[in-house]
Formats: sequence, structure tokens, C-alpha cells
Amino acid sequence: MAESPVRCTIDLDAPGKQVGALHVPRSSNTAGWASTVVPIVTVRGGDGPTALVVGGVHGDEPEGQVAALGLAREVTPEEVPGRLIIVPCASMDAARAFTRLWPSGANLNRSFPGSPDGSPDEQLAHFFSTVLFPLADVVVDIHSGGRSGMHLPWAEMHWVEDPGQRRRMVAAMYAWNTDWCAVYIDIAGTGLLVGEAERQGKVVASAELGGGGHVTAALHRLAASGLRNVLRHEGVLAGEVATRASLGLPEQRLLMATELENYLLAPESGIWEALVDLGDRVEVGDPVGRLLFLERPDREPELVRASTAGIVCTIRAIAPTTQGDCVAVVAREADRSELD
Ligand SMILES: [Zn+2]
Repeated sequence: MAESPVRCTIDLDAPGKQVGALHVPRSSNTAGWASTVVPIVTVRGGDGPTALVVGGVHGDEPEGQVAALGLAREVTPEEVPGRLIIVPCASMDAARAFTRLWPSGANLNRSFPGSPDGSPDEQLAHFFSTVLFPLADVVVDIHSGGRSGMHLPWAEMHWVEDPGQRRRMVAAMYAWNTDWCAVYIDIAGTGLLVGEAERQGKVVASAELGGGGHVTAALHRLAASGLRNVLRHEGVLAGEVATRASLGLPEQRLLMATELENYLLAPESGIWEALVDLGDRVEVGDPVGRLLFLERPDREPELVRASTAGIVCTIRAIAPTTQGDCVAVVAREADRSELD
């Protein structure tokens, strides 16, 4: 495959802390010859394991961007027996616009493994896939529901086939120390960053830390502490690993959202009104929300009912809804032994 057109301004193997950028070729009406500049930070204290930490794959998810910026600012090489590679915000123009997608309409999280000859998002994805992932033992990708959705804050994983990789991913998921953990499937296409990292055999530690366009101080604290604890657990950061027990907290509750029926889609377009809240328990047939019709005050709302029994773990955060939008996710609560 052709070499990446993305240029990295720092030596990713250099010791100490390096602050640089990835330059993704850009050509616009106002700048014919230009780059989209994606900051990258490395912190290397030795030859131990490498973690790649990525925030801002989606521009309207500031939780991971803030946590990754804090990590990049605060961590010193003395705290890192191996190497940290941090991309605090992968989708810079989307973050500036506070939108999920790039201004071009590209979803970086559908662009993997990418292509050196493709659109700028595919070029950046290709750089991650061919340069950054091969350097990493662990890939941390921090998300939330963005402006359009609210998730119970959870650490998450795909059910990968390799038992050894899966065991390490389960342990990394628990290391976030979130109240909730979730196993999920992709219902809206392929090309995810985590999917390519998993395919390359990496330990992927991902999380969905809230959403709805607002980040509480508690969620920022959770993102910062969870990220550091995962890195300690993986031996990338020095220091004692905290457990739920050592924090005086009960065991995590495990959610399985691995069936299509867990994901409730709007049967038609309208204004969304939630009838349940995150964390509520529902039975099959219970109403979780309804669609109203601004142009039809005479019309009864269209109820959306749970197809499965379980915990409401995702709720649509904005009212205007298009047919086929996911309005809620009801996940099955599972025993942790299912992941053994
Ligand atoms: Zn996201």
C-alpha cells in the first residue's frame, strides 16, 4: 500500500515528552495549499508497553478531549515506564464546530482502516491504522452520546473472538471503574476505529461517558480517573491500580446490548418525548417514549415500546427525530460470569 500522505512532526520513538502534530493535506477555497493540523503528544520514559489514547473522534464529545488534554499536560516521562501516544482530538474541525461529523460530512469512526488515496478522513484513519496502531499494545478511545444521545456512563467492549484478547479487554473495561459496563454491537455500519484496532489484536479500552452536549464535573472526574486507572492497569502509567472495592464501591453492573432488538428506532419522524430515564428498568412492551407531530395537534402520539426487558442505557437527547433514528437502547442486565 502507498505511503501515508499524513506527516508527523515528531519522532514517535523519542524519549521524554514531545508535542507535535499530524498534518493532513487540506485544500480549500480560502487556502489552496494547507494542512489540517491534529496535535499529537508522546510521553516516553522507557521500553515498557505503549498505549494510544484518542479523544474527539467525534467532535461533539468533549469528555475524551478534556481527559486526553489533561493527561497530555500533566503526565511526566518519570510516570511512564513505556510510552504514551495521545491524540487529544482526532476530528479538529468537527470539534471546532461542535458537531459529530466533519464539515465534509465524513464520520471518522466509519473511515477505518482508511486509505492513503482517499478523502482526508480516510487518510487520517490510514495513518492511525498503519503507523499508530502497530506501535500500541493498548488503544483507548473515549466517546459519549454526543449532542444527540445520552448514555449511562459506561466502559464498553465488543465481543472479540480471540479469548486472550477478550480476557484482557474485559479486565481493561473493569479498570475504568465506571458504575456500568456494556458489551455492544455496531448497528450503524462498519469502519470503526476500535474495530480496526481489535482486528490488529490490540487491547481496546473504550468508554461512552454520558452525552447530550453537556458534561458535568462528575463526568470529567470520571473520565480523568478512569483513563489513568486503565493506563495503570495496563502498566503504561506507574502507580497503584484502584479497584471498585478499594474505592468502597459495589461491583460494576454489566449490560449486554448485543441484540438488534435492544436498539429502538423511531418508526416515523416527529418530536421525541422520553417517558423513561437512564437507569430505569423496563419490561417488554413498556413505553419508553413517544413521537409527537407539530403539524398534527389532533393526532395521538406514536408510542415507542421496549422490545426487550432490561435497563434503559441510552436515550435520545434532542427532540427533532427522523424515521430510523435510535431513540433508546434497552440492555439486558447480565451476570459478570457471562464474560468469563
Ligand atoms: Zn463517538
